[in-house]
Parts: sequence; C-alpha cells; structure tokens
Amino acid sequence: MTDGPDLVVAGAGGGLAGALRAAELGLSVLVVEASEHFRRGNNTSMSTAMFPGAGSRWQRDEGVDDSPERFVADIMAKTRGQADPRLARTLAEVSAPLVEWLADSAGLPLSLVTDFNYPGHSVLRCHTIPGRHGSGVVDHLARRVAEHENIELLAPARLIDVLSEEDTVDGVRAAVVRYPDGTEEEIPTRAVLLATNGFGADADLVAKHLPEISQALYQGSDQSLGDALRIGEKLGAATGFLDAYQGHGAVSASAGTLVGWATIIHGAFLVDLEGRRFGNETRGYSEYAAELAARPGSTGWIVLDETIFEQCQPFQDFRDVVSAGALVWADDAAGLAAATGLPAAALEAELATTQAIARGSQADEHGRTHWERALSGRLAAVRVVPALFHTQGGLLVDEHAAVVDHDDRPIPGLYAAGGAAASISGHGAAGYLPGNGLLPAFGLAYLAAGDVARRLNSNTAS
Ligand SMILES: Cc1cc2nc3c(=O)[nH]c(=O)nc-3n(C[C@H](O)[C@H](O)[C@H](O)COP(=O)(O)OP(=O)(O)OC[C@H]3O[C@@H](n4cnc5c(N)ncnc54)[C@H](O)[C@@H]3O)c2cc1C
Repeated sequence: MTDGPDLVVAGAGGGLAGALRAAELGLSVLVVEASEHFRRGNNTSMSTAMFPGAGSRWQRDEGVDDSPERFVADIMAKTRGQADPRLARTLAEVSAPLVEWLADSAGLPLSLVTDFNYPGHSVLRCHTIPGRHGSGVVDHLARRVAEHENIELLAPARLIDVLSEEDTVDGVRAAVVRYPDGTEEEIPTRAVLLATNGFGADADLVAKHLPEISQALYQGSDQSLGDALRIGEKLGAATGFLDAYQGHGAVSASAGTLVGWATIIHGAFLVDLEGRRFGNETRGYSEYAAELAARPGSTGWIVLDETIFEQCQPFQDFRDVVSAGALVWADDAAGLAAATGLPAAALEAELATTQAIARGSQADEHGRTHWERALSGRLAAVRVVPALFHTQGGLLVDEHAAVVDHDDRPIPGLYAAGGAAASISGHGAAGYLPGNGLLPAFGLAYLAAGDVARRLNSNTAS
C-alpha cells in the first residue's frame, strides 16, 4: 500500500487524457508537468489536432465504411510492413472508442474532417475540433483536469526517476520529482505513466538516431529531452524504432508556422529554388522534410491559388501564416516568379504542366495522381523549410501500454504513451500517417489508465 496517488502521470500533453480516464475509473491521480508553459509549448498544443478514429459514429453518419482492420492495412501499407503489428492493432482498435470518449466524457467538440483526406488514409478518418489546433485540445483538457477533485496537477515539476521494488510483483513504488529550485521529492505510488514525449529537443540524440533531419528546424516541444528513455532504460525497458520521426515539408520560412499539407491535397504543388517540382507531394508530408532538406538551400515554395487559399481557412495555423504576411500574390506565373525570385521560365513550365496533368491530358513524371483541380486565377506562393516535429521511437509497450523488458514482459506499474513510447510508424519518416502522433499519445494514455485501474482493483479484491 502507498499513501500517495494511485497513478502519477508525467507530462500534460496526451497524458491529460490518461489522467482523466484514470480519475473516471475511480483512481487518484497526480500529473507532474515540467513546463509551466505546457498549454502552448508542448507538442499536443502545437498539433493540427487530427485524431484518427476507425469506425467512429461520425464516420457512420457520413456513410464512411471503416474498421480497425482497414486502418491496420493502411498503417502496414504506409510503413511497408514495418510497424509493430501488436501495437498497430491495439491502436486501430482503440481509435474509435477513444474519439467517442474524448467527445462524450472529456467534452471535446470533435467531428469528422470531410473537406479533404490526408495521404495514406484510404477513407475519411481524421476527427478534429473547430480551429483545427491542438492548443484548443490542451486548454480544454487542462481545464477538465483542474476541475476534477481526484486529479492534482503540479507544474513546473519534472519527473527525474521512477523507483521500483525489485523482485516483487508490485514493481513501481515511487516517482521522484524535481522542482525548479532544485529540491527533489519522492512521491509514493504504484504506477507511473511516462507521457513526457520523445527526444526531439536533445540535439545529440537527434544527431545519433536521425542524422538525415538533424540540421533541419526543430518545431516541437523544448521539453522533449528523452527523459522517458533514460528512466525506462534504467528499469530494464526495451526500446525500438529510434530512427523513426515525423517530419514536415511545409513550415513557413518567415512565419515559423505550419502552412499545412491541406494546400497540397487541394491541388498546390511544391518547387525548389530552381522553380522545379522534385517528387510526388501527395506521398506524405513527413517524408518530404528530408526530401526538401536535400534540395538547394534546403528550402522551396508552395504554389497555390485563391480557391486553395479559401479552402485552407479552417486551419488556425494557415490563418496565422497569412496574418504574418508570408504569402506573396501575383496575377500569373511570371508575376509570381518576380515576387519570389524563382526562375520565370521554370515556374511557368511547371504551372502549365501541373494544369495539364490535373486536367488529365498528361501523366505526372513524378507519379502524382491526386489533383483536386488545376490551379487557376491569381496565384500565391509561400516559402517553406523542412522541420522535425517529433520523434517516433522510444520504449516498447504492450497492448495495455505497459512498458516491456527485453523479454517482452511488462515492467509492473510502468507505462508509456505518445512520444515516450515506440510508435507505429516503422523506421525513418515515410511511415508516418497523419494522426499517428496524437493516437499513440492519447490512445496509450487511455489504455494505461484502464490497466492501472484493473491492476489496483484486482489487488484490492485479492
Ligand atoms: C506542429 C505539429 C503539428 C502536429 N500535428 C499533428 C496532428 O495533427 N495529428 C497528430 O496525430 N499528431 C500531430 N503532431 C504530433 C503530435 O503533436 C505528437 O505526436 C503528440 O502531441 C505527442 O504527445 P505527447 O503527450 O507524447 O507529447 P507532448 O504533447 O509534448 O506532451 C509531453 C509533456 O511532457 C512534459 N515533460 C517532458 N519531460 C517531462 C518530465 N521529465 N517530467 C514531467 N513532464 C515532462 C512536456 O513539457 C510536455 O508538456 C504534430 C506535432 C507538431 C510539432
């Protein structure tokens, strides 16, 4: 028995969902959060708030035929079979119950995104909130946590260690927290959820595991310092997929904000400084980070038109890019070339070629087949740079989000979610499916809460 909380959740991103779920199941919860600025500084708050849910009631209402099996097939196709099948299945199965729970119990105003589909999802599957921004998700859940009588949130307070009872089934016995003044506190508990994200902010770890993107802008939380890896490995945890990451090929160079791949999906194209396209943009934005990084100057321009400009208005990030003055406008390709400094002949040729491809009169040499429509009327361009958003490798977990050792045995009481855990994106950047950052963050936190409740209840009963 302990006198502390039933569960300590480290990290107030996806971890907030774990805290709310655990409290709903009758547990007392302490959330420790390293940064007082987490509501705007963590990855969840920076995200586009896209949650995949395979088989949700919103999909049924729209007549979308989806299932966990179909989602697993999409994950396996995108990762070329590299994703951990147990975790892929687990997360696909929890995805619809999770979005419905987030709406019904946590009160998030979610709905299905129907105005476009992300590359790699064979059906409309992403759910989001108005504004399509993660800050709204974190604000909302943090408010719910603050209101809950069984949850306490300590911030700033950094989890620095987890102590365990060796050779007993109880496993975890305490969480050790450090406060900004340097004092440390040992908090007795039987379960710890590591929801501290990955190691994107640790330049040495990024250089070691992700050299192809180590020179790019890092766009994620400054608190993603690899704490879960250190703590988990000390307790004998197995790790995996440390070379996996989510990149992005569309961060505005001048605004530092996400332009968004919805531009591309609606028909925009991406050129390098020579004014030339260099691939099939619709394969995915994550892999495009390294591809853009390899172009001259590690930069490029997304070319769009007024229709796409209007279609992207639902995204707060896109509106912020516009407000920052990052878009340049012109009446035609020659004017756009003058405004951007791109070679006019190349840009005019690419525009004409993409228009012909979109109208079906010629095939794309890069293999892109999805063209919503040909660009027309006034044109705009925005300069983009590649970015590392977050790492996707970490502690290996089982179907209950329990951290496992090198023999695949759960370490009793130790759980991991989100960037702290190895995800379902395979190796490298190309396996990342949109939404598969938030799904492991929220889905594993949700499952961990359920497992802690089961364990503690069965201990009480026996
Ligand atoms: C710009 C951007 C857009 C994105 N868009 C999407 C999207 O639309 N859909 C999607 O699925 N994914 C998206 N992602 C990825 C997604 O945001 C992340 O995968 C997800 O939010 C990770 O959640 P998390 O809980 O692991 O990390 P976080 O949300 O970063 O939360 C971790 C928390 O732990 C705290 N912390 C760190 N160390 C400690 C410690 N030792 N003790 C206590 N607290 C600690 C941090 O301060 C932080 O608040 C995006 C990412 C970025 C950067």
